[in-house]
Order: sequence, then C-alpha cells, then structure tokens
Amino acid sequence: MYTKEIGKNLFMVELETGGFKNLICSYVIKGRKPFLVESGPANSIQNLLTALEQLDVKVEDVEFVAITHVHLDHSGGVGTLLKSLPNAKVIVHPRGMPHLIDPERLWPSSRKVLGFVSDIFGKPEPVPKDRVIPVTEGSFDLGCGAKLTVFETIGHASHNLSFQESFNGGVFPGDAAGTYLPEFDVVVPTTPPPFYLDAALASLDKLISLKPTVLYFSHFGKALNAKQLLEDYKIQIQLWAEIAEEGVKKNWSFEQIRDRIIVEDNVMGLIKDFVMSHRIYSKTVLENCVKGFIEFAKQKQSS
Ligand SMILES: [Zn+2]
Repeated sequence: MYTKEIGKNLFMVELETGGFKNLICSYVIKGRKPFLVESGPANSIQNLLTALEQLDVKVEDVEFVAITHVHLDHSGGVGTLLKSLPNAKVIVHPRGMPHLIDPERLWPSSRKVLGFVSDIFGKPEPVPKDRVIPVTEGSFDLGCGAKLTVFETIGHASHNLSFQESFNGGVFPGDAAGTYLPEFDVVVPTTPPPFYLDAALASLDKLISLKPTVLYFSHFGKALNAKQLLEDYKIQIQLWAEIAEEGVKKNWSFEQIRDRIIVEDNVMGLIKDFVMSHRIYSKTVLENCVKGFIEFAKQKQSS
C-alpha cells in the first residue's frame, strides 16, 4: 500500500488488495473536508485506513465516500469502512443503493461471475440506509470554490456514476472507460455481463464532452491522455462487439471468439502475455469481458 499526490488537493491510494499491485485504487480529495472516491474491496479497507492516517486525514472529518458503482472491487468495503468513519455518507446511484443496504444478493451473484476473485476482494457488509445519498446528477462543494460533479455513465453497469473534480478538471470514470494498464498506457474492456454496448458508447461520448484533463481510473491510476484513451476505448469496444456478433452468427465457440479478438485488437496483441499470465485479468478481461460481448450479441440477435 502507498499513497501518492497526483494533483492539486488530490491523492491516490494504491490499495494492494490481496497483495495485487496496480489493480485497485481509491482517491482522497482534500477539500473543505476530506472526500473519498471508491472504498475498494472489503479485504483492503485496513490498507485504506492506514493510508488516511499517512495523509493526516482524521476519520471523523471525512464527509463523503463517493462510489462509482456497487461491484465488489469498487465499493465492497464501504460498509466496513463506514464503521471507522463516524460522520461519512455514501454517494451512489439509486439503482446501486439497495445492494449497499442489503448486500446478501450481491455476494452470491458476484461469486458466480468472479469465482475465486470474489474471495480475494472479500464479502461486503451492509451500509445503514440513513448514511446513503442516492444521486444521478448534481454536485458537491469541495471548498475554495471547487466542486465534485456527478454524471450518470451507465453501460458497464446499469448504475455506473462518474465524477469530475474542479481542482484539476479530472474525471473518475469508475469502469465506464475500461481498465487502464499503466504498464502499457492502454485501456482494455471492463464489460462483464450484463453489458450494454449502446449505453456504454453514449456514456463515453458524455465523458469526452466533459473535456477531462486527466482520468483517474479505479483500475488503475491517473492517465494523462484522457481524450485519446476515451476515443480509443470507443473503437475497441465496437471492434469486440463486431467480432462477437460475427462469432455468434457463425456459431463460433467462446475460445474462437476470444482468440479472434486477441488477433484483431492491436492492444490485445501488445498485452496478451501480460493479461494471460495475470491471475485476475486472465479471468476478468479474457473471460468475463468477452462473455459480456457474446451475451450482448446473442440478445441483439434474438430481439
Ligand atoms: Zn471494476
């Protein structure tokens, strides 16, 4: 675990969940009051609390924890975290709210999709209802004339939010803009089923229209060439969708579709050895994200 100053009043926390580096991070905005973006998974909350101490953030001062969506890797730890933040409220999309208050259904469904990865992330604890603020649009005062603005950017999930902070003009896209691999300066899809291509593309256009100076990926870290990455990601998910559609039409196996994607997508050509040998990305990127496109293609064909 480490913390890093990445902008004006802004810090990144490498959560190192399960010992995995460059996988999941949280962010701390030091405005009028400390403001967190993403709690990360339950199993790395202790690392996040240690980071707050290192950053001289008093737990009782934290006012808000904004979460982009309720998947385990982004907010599975928020219930646990709130036990240590007596005055903090959680900002979440209204469609994600029920799963925070009662995570009993989220856990088995996450286990089904993520398999062994869900054990690395840990089981979520419930968040008291009166500590949740459901939001789809709006803004929060960060002090010194700065604010954090909320945007609905669905597609990856039916309830993904993005946030833009005005200290630096950067955007936290959650999983709306893919997974950023800092080792290669590229993005790869975050598209587990159910994935909604048209909504995802519309969300990317919305993010591009915000003219972000930088992107703060939850996976992983700050990326400078925001506009280029968003445009690249649009092209990439359209390519994956085309291949999946062709594959479904021609009755290709899952492996045939996956391998065609690896051949056709230049980014995958560049990173395939890294992704294939990565314990988590081999499961999420090469399995779940491909499945997201296949299911989307099947649904499109049957409708
Ligand atoms: Zn994620």
